[in-house]
Amino acid sequence: RFRASWGLFAAATGSWGAGQVVWTCYEVVAREAAPFPSLADAGYLLFPIFALAALFVRPSAAFEGKGRLRVLLDGLMVAGALFNLSWATTLGAVYRQGADGAGALVVGMAYPVEDLVVLAVAVMVLVHARARTGLLLVTGAIVGMGVADSAFVYLTATDTYTTGNPVDLAWVSAFLFFGLAALLDNGPVEAQTESRTSSSLYLGLPYLLVILGISVVVAGGLRGTTDPVTVVVAAIELAALLARQYLLVLDNRQLFLASQAQQSQLRYRAFHDPLTGLANRALFTDRVGHALDLHRRTLRPLAVVFCDLDDFKAVNDTLGHDVGDALLVALADRFRAIARAGDTVARLGGDEFGILIEDEGEAMAVAQRILTDLVAPIPLADRQLRVRASIGVATVASTDPPVDGQELLKRADVAMYAAKRSGKFTVSAYTPELRDRQVDNLDMELALTADVMNDAVRVALQPILLSDGSVYGYEALARWDYEGQPIAPETFIPMADRAGVLRTLDLSVISKGVACIDSLPAGAGPATLTVNIGLSHLPDERLVPALLSLLAAHHVDPRRLVVEIPEDRSIENPAVVRTLTRLRVAGAQLALDDFGVGYSSLSRMGQLRPDLVKLHRSFVVGLESSPHTRDMLAAVIDLSHRIGARVIAEGVETESQLAIARAAGCDAVQGFLLGVPAEPPLMAATHPVTRA
Ligand code: C2E
Ligand code: MG
Ligand code: MG
Repeated sequence: RFRASWGLFAAATGSWGAGQVVWTCYEVVAREAAPFPSLADAGYLLFPIFALAALFVRPSAAFEGKGRLRVLLDGLMVAGALFNLSWATTLGAVYRQGADGAGALVVGMAYPVEDLVVLAVAVMVLVHARARTGLLLVTGAIVGMGVADSAFVYLTATDTYTTGNPVDLAWVSAFLFFGLAALLDNGPVEAQTESRTSSSLYLGLPYLLVILGISVVVAGGLRGTTDPVTVVVAAIELAALLARQYLLVLDNRQLFLASQAQQSQLRYRAFHDPLTGLANRALFTDRVGHALDLHRRTLRPLAVVFCDLDDFKAVNDTLGHDVGDALLVALADRFRAIARAGDTVARLGGDEFGILIEDEGEAMAVAQRILTDLVAPIPLADRQLRVRASIGVATVASTDPPVDGQELLKRADVAMYAAKRSGKFTVSAYTPELRDRQVDNLDMELALTADVMNDAVRVALQPILLSDGSVYGYEALARWDYEGQPIAPETFIPMADRAGVLRTLDLSVISKGVACIDSLPAGAGPATLTVNIGLSHLPDERLVPALLSLLAAHHVDPRRLVVEIPEDRSIENPAVVRTLTRLRVAGAQLALDDFGVGYSSLSRMGQLRPDLVKLHRSFVVGLESSPHTRDMLAAVIDLSHRIGARVIAEGVETESQLAIARAAGCDAVQGFLLGVPAEPPLMAATHPVTRA
């Protein structure tokens, strides 16, 4: 468009030049005064038409977008003002003078009027331009043309024009300006640098012209020489000005509304989670603070429900973050549906949601409803996803002392954490003991981790005796003290598992057991070493090589190792099956631990084909009182023997239990009666194996 524009300017100057050639033919070749109007005038009059087209084709902010009406009004103002100025200087005089015939008058008047229109458009383009050098020169050229044309028409009308009049210089300068403009106009390049420095000055230009135009009319009026046409034009100018101002007012209003909408959108974004549209932590904290204020003033109760999805990371890791996001959005809808109108539902972090309930009695019900509603499957990514959550509830009843917002959120968090610890997928309500326990637990876990890493967990060995009273072997059991108190393995084993150090713990206990097994009293053959392997440790590929190298280091035959397999469904896991197979191949024996409770099943017993079956203590306890248990015992022993496994009764504490167990056919016994688990240095001196 920029090129096309300059092409049209070239056409404009070309047509003017053609007119000039015709005129020169009359004046110089034919040596006669050119008639008026003549063919030359056709060329001259085409100039402004092409120039006008050039200005319209040029890429300009003036003719684009919504501003068109404004530019039109501005143009009207400018054109009107220029007309008034021109009328006062030349046009009026030409008109009053009249001409030699209507044709001459029309053509004569056409020059300045055309120039006015072109000039008005040029001014408009100039006002809205970003790069102005070229446009300033073009406007200068058009002003030159306008002045020259007006003066020429005026002089011709008053019959005072002769070739060589100083007015001719105006044409010369106009074409000089055009030449310079063509050289210096780099509009599109400059446009990119977007300089708006003087734009306010340029924006004032139309107003300045209107003031001048109207002043001229008023001045004429004062002198009593007003032409009605100038008054009409002045009125049009004023009307355009008023319309222009009205548009400005409308624009202002629209801008104001837009900025208001933008502001409220910013505010919304600052307080909402962009993914789910729920309140974010900032808004939630604010609302909780507000509810606590109300509680302080009017004793209105409230509750905060904290909900953390169980194992959400697995969804992200296996199905991808897109599915994770979609799941969160679906869950947000469920939360919204569960909450009542006045409650605030927020997404507090990755997979954490919070609900503020401004009526404490409802809180537990809402929490329970979340648990039951969440489990309904969510169809996503061609599958039915099931989500579970651990929920903590912290309430502030009317009678409770005021609390601070941060404290309340912390309480809900503590309760949620307790729910996670008690096996996930439950609701737990905050109590002060919960926090104490949590802090304690954390300290304890840190101490345990440190001790495991420092190899400071100890081993106790408990003898297992054959029915003739001779030693079959020993079970290695972990021992650990915290703050001077012995802690039960049932407590610290799961803790080590959570802390990720169970594997290290198992191996350190086993290594200590292996190290001392040959220093302990033995029976007819070398004593066996029974070891416990954590469930999460069993699938580990490094387990069997680690065990074998421990045994090799102390020259212990792998056939003396008995590995206890806990009763659990997860032993069907292929990785666990692989471990067990490798153990068997290496010569180790497998013992099914705690038989009689938990997941015991005959099919599993058949699958595993254990070398040993260890009857759980609870089984043995019932022996003395219940004949039924004795029948069961007889049956289990018979069954075990049929699959080639020997039976060990665990937890034998009394002589009568021992007698019954032996009578029923147990191959070996283990229990406090026969020997308590003892740590190696003490063991040599006090272990009570001799009792048997
Ligand atoms: P478990 O494998 O069934 O070990 C036998 C448990 O019965 C031991 O408890 C032992 O002290 C106890 N016990 C033995 N005789 C009697 C008795 O006559 N009466 C009573 N009431 N109890 C008796 P302990 O040492 O508290 O260990 C508990 C459990 O912790 C073990 O059960 C085992 O599953 C686990 N565990 C112990 N040490 C380790 C270890 O190093 N690694 C792993 N992964 N687990 C271990
Ligand atoms: Mg055991
Ligand atoms: Mg056991």
